[in-house]
Amino acid sequence: MSLAQALAAQVVKPVRVCTVALLLEQLEPEDAAALQKALDLPQSEKPTAEIHSALLSEGYRLAASTLGNHRFGRCCCGTR
Ligand SMILES: [Zn+2]
Repeated sequence: MSLAQALAAQVVKPVRVCTVALLLEQLEPEDAAALQKALDLPQSEKPTAEIHSALLSEGYRLAASTLGNHRFGRCCCGTR
């Protein structure tokens, strides 16, 4: 599924997950796994800024702070 298709198929969900979690759901399984793996690495090994740059370079627009909040459990997902 292309990003355009994924966005078109996106339905409005109750806000229980953040932008990052939604992105993880929409990415190809391979990409989602790679992103999750990167997020699970220690910040010293894989800085959030690096992950953010990679996402931007692939056309995924989200704030670095949003990414960091999800990574460290400070987003709405963390309260589930
Ligand atoms: Zn989250």
